[in-house]
Amino acid sequence: LATKAEELGVEIYPGFAATEVLYNDEGAVIGVATGDMGIERSGEPGPNFARGMALLGKYTLIGEGVRGSLAKQLIAKFDLSRDSDVQKFGIGLKELWQ
Ligand SMILES: Cc1cc2nc3c(=O)[nH]c(=O)nc-3n(C[C@H](O)[C@H](O)[C@H](O)COP(=O)(O)OP(=O)(O)OC[C@H]3O[C@@H](n4cnc5c(N)ncnc54)[C@H](O)[C@@H]3O)c2cc1C
Repeated sequence: LATKAEELGVEIYPGFAATEVLYNDEGAVIGVATGDMGIERSGEPGPNFARGMALLGKYTLIGEGVRGSLAKQLIAKFDLSRDSDVQKFGIGLKELWQ
């Protein structure tokens, strides 16, 4: 699907985690920022250092899975779970029949 999406003009950045939600002056979400790459174990920039990118869009869709770090921030900031039960997680077993 990635190839088909790119044919439609979608830009895909595999391997880049969104690390920060970006807001405008009114507090509305305008995009996300990716983290810096190539930081050494010491915390200093290494030879492959690359500054993170700001990815801005008319709409920002967060699809991080069930316990996304940015999603959790957004749920707290905008009180998105006020009308919902708390999320529940469980361990499942899958049985395969042949
Ligand atoms: C063991 C197991 C078995 C399952 N079996 C089934 C099944 O048989 N049938 C079924 O219908 N469902 C099944 N599910 C459930 C199904 O996998 C999930 O409901 C579904 O994948 C959720 O989709 P999603 O897109 O919301 O999240 P995900 O599939 O979790 O995708 C989120 C993606 O976002 C990426 N990501 C997270 N944070 C960031 C970030 N900050 N920046 C960039 N990328 C980020 C993650 O790496 C991941 O690739 C199963 C789940 C598990 C764990």
